[in-house]
Amino acid sequence: MPSGKTHDRLTLWLLPWLLGVTLVLTRSSQIALILASCFAFSGLMFGPDLDIYSVQFKRWGKLSFIWLPYQKALRHRSKLSHGFLIGTVIRLIYLGTWLFITSLFVVGISQLVWGFEWNWQEFFEQLAAGLVEKYKQEAIALFLGLELGAMSHYLADSTNTAYKKYQKEGIKGIIRRKPKPKPQRRSKK
Ligand SMILES: [Zn+2]
Repeated sequence: MPSGKTHDRLTLWLLPWLLGVTLVLTRSSQIALILASCFAFSGLMFGPDLDIYSVQFKRWGKLSFIWLPYQKALRHRSKLSHGFLIGTVIRLIYLGTWLFITSLFVVGISQLVWGFEWNWQEFFEQLAAGLVEKYKQEAIALFLGLELGAMSHYLADSTNTAYKKYQKEGIKGIIRRKPKPKPQRRSKK
């Protein structure tokens, strides 16, 4: 599969185009900025290769440990990390869970210190209402940006695989139905 550098280059090369096209289509610099930054974030450090020791993983620095259970649970290039839509949805839920656990601690400790009222149910209701009523377009741009960043990754991965097959077996290699994949070993990249 393409190296992390190739994926980075593709992300950075597509970024201005995406920004331009979104700006023309939506005529909103705010939406275009959200979409483009989420695309860059997804391409550089929130992409499918978090399921392996990769550049994307390393970019989380001291926080990279949060992706270790994710790597343990998923086989590299499995549908759950590299699948269309599902990959992004699962990563969002996964990161959201970490954020929620962290905020439980932060809110709990702050309550002990400052003693204020906090209701998680109310918080989530307001958050959901805000996303649906006020910030619907922003939320869509956010998700779309993340998914497009991941998609540029899947496409580069599968184009590369097809090209390697073509080099090895000619056009037949691409047309022939895929044989059952051998169980993959985890490889360092
Ligand atoms: Zn990949």
